[in-house]
Amino acid sequence: MRRHVRPYVVKFGGASVAEPDRIVARTRALRALGLPTVVVASARGGVTDRLKSVLEAPHDTVGHRRALAGIARRHPGLPAAGRRHLERLARLVSAVEDRGGADPPLADRVLSQGERLAVDWLTRLLDEQGIPAVAVEADRLGLITDDHYGRATVLLDRSRPAVRAGLLGILRQGRVPVVTGYFGRSLEGHVATLGRGGSDYSATAIGAILGARRVELIKRDVSVLSADPRLVAHALPIARLSYEEAEELAQFGAKVLHPLTVEPARLAGLEIVVRSLEDPNVATVIGPPRGPDGMRAVTLLSPLSLVRIRVPGGRQRPGVVADASERLSEHGINIVTLFTSSTCLSLVLERGRGRRAREVLDPLFRSGPAVLEGPLPIALVTAIGDGVLDDLGRIPATILAQGEGLSATPRSISFALPVPGGAPAVRALHRALVEGHDR
Ligand code: ASP
Ligand code: MG
Repeated sequence: MRRHVRPYVVKFGGASVAEPDRIVARTRALRALGLPTVVVASARGGVTDRLKSVLEAPHDTVGHRRALAGIARRHPGLPAAGRRHLERLARLVSAVEDRGGADPPLADRVLSQGERLAVDWLTRLLDEQGIPAVAVEADRLGLITDDHYGRATVLLDRSRPAVRAGLLGILRQGRVPVVTGYFGRSLEGHVATLGRGGSDYSATAIGAILGARRVELIKRDVSVLSADPRLVAHALPIARLSYEEAEELAQFGAKVLHPLTVEPARLAGLEIVVRSLEDPNVATVIGPPRGPDGMRAVTLLSPLSLVRIRVPGGRQRPGVVADASERLSEHGINIVTLFTSSTCLSLVLERGRGRRAREVLDPLFRSGPAVLEGPLPIALVTAIGDGVLDDLGRIPATILAQGEGLSATPRSISFALPVPGGAPAVRALHRALVEGHDR
């Protein structure tokens, strides 16, 4: 590798791993451009789901055999190293059966096997096509995470020395490292997964550590659109998003990216390209903001739960928002968004969490004047785009009239609406802010 050429990281998703020829072609094309290329791979389609199902039914030994056979079939022609991973997986599954379940580190070890198999399978494929490749397991490489199993965060500074030494060494030999996505090694030294869809995040973390010029996330049938095409038939592809816009999109329901994916890229100032495997010309670039460009996307999360804390006379004691959100997070309940005034605090929570939220909040308010109300099922409709507040005048009156509340930032406006109003509101907002909007 020439010193001044910054590496290129390309991640192939679970679905696209089903398309070996295209993976080979893309890797070859990048190398032909003289770009030292690092491949990050997630498990082949359906494999992580099968591993999850084993963990969810620890006594279903018949189901486990079927899952293992299905996983083996997804990796034809595995080299010896990969076959050892299959054997190890069988042993891990036996351990889950013996213990009648898995603690979080064991569960993460089981879940990580899908990526280990995928990189062995993919490395063999690249080698056969004349692209010298090396399988790399991220935990062994030294991608370090915190100890939150199942939703770990990558510790970039801790990971930097070993990840750079390992991957740049392979690149210098003119070979392609094929690195497992989705997990790393916790500070305690166990396997820790990053949450479903976490290979995107692995790719940007590795890109940031290597000082990559770009991270390309290749997905099948996925492009970043102005709305869910099941709701808006003529949703438009989005060519460019700022980091912040992309984060809002991930937060408010466009399941295109793992929610932490953008952060390493923003820190390192590297661009993310989300590219479709079928049509490489369809791509969205996520990068530094270039000022408001009229890009708008509309998302829907439904149903969610709304719980209201009403404070008659507005005599809210200081710190009530902090107390409420702390109690909820202690009990593992996420706040999707909240609306607040001096007399009312509305918490929008994930689906089905409203009743539990009331139970854990109740002791906080039992002795004061505040009244807890709800839970109420709601739809949360969000319009996203840098400078979206300029569009306030175009928000259809029907949406404003039904709103249970709204919250806004310089790049998003969210409306809580009655559930049946959600999908029509997405279409109305799309019409008002995306179609017929002078871009
Ligand atoms: N294989 C993992 C999952 O299915 C990670 C990923 O696909 O990015 O969630
Ligand atoms: Mg923009």
